[in-house]
Amino acid sequence: MGLMTGDPGALVLFSGGQDSTACLAWALETYGRVETVGFDYGQRHAVELEARQAVRSRLAKAFPAWARRLGADHLLDLRGFGAIGDSALTSERAIEITDKGLPSTFVPGRNLAFLVHAAALADRRGLSVLVGGMCETDFSGYPDCRRDTLDAMTQALNLGMAQTFEIATPLMRLTKAETWALAKGLGGEALVDVIVDDSHTCYLGEREAAHPWGRGCGTCPACELRAKGWAEWVDEGRPALSP
Ligand code: ZN
Repeated sequence: MGLMTGDPGALVLFSGGQDSTACLAWALETYGRVETVGFDYGQRHAVELEARQAVRSRLAKAFPAWARRLGADHLLDLRGFGAIGDSALTSERAIEITDKGLPSTFVPGRNLAFLVHAAALADRRGLSVLVGGMCETDFSGYPDCRRDTLDAMTQALNLGMAQTFEIATPLMRLTKAETWALAKGLGGEALVDVIVDDSHTCYLGEREAAHPWGRGCGTCPACELRAKGWAEWVDEGRPALSP
């Protein structure tokens, strides 16, 4: 279908967090056919998987034009992979910086594994663009979020699968404040509201405490980053960034 209409079709790596929700909105604005994929790698928090469905259904209700483009959701079981990387996200270890200078939330090769599985799925679904929220601006601790890594991965996927995939990373050069601005540029305050209310970022799976920037414990690294970006964006007068 994508080939016949000239639309490459996109598969969004969608965790239900702030970044991947902004990516999903960007993809819905950019491509005619958009599907989503999530990965169950044994997260401590089923709340992340619930957030995915909440965001998808609310986007479809609030933005009818996007609802027509939003296709199937896929959830892939990567618990076997998750068992390899014993990190703070999947075990009860405290979140800290390791002697490699990486946060203990880093799972070696996780984004690479996600991309291989996403590409195999995209091949079967006839989708050519993989969209991910990788970002090297605010926090460069994850070596598999760097654009260099993704360029090498694109080449490996295309050689190994005889494909012409593209990996689109609309947030790569944006700060967290600019990610809020992009959301406003894509879907106005209505999209900002969806992200605040329904997306989930907190590493600890906290959904009780409500803050202006969303729900979360407020003190884990993910909450701190999200709150800081929100504060900067509000200080700047809540600007809108054109996609
Ligand atoms: Zn938190």
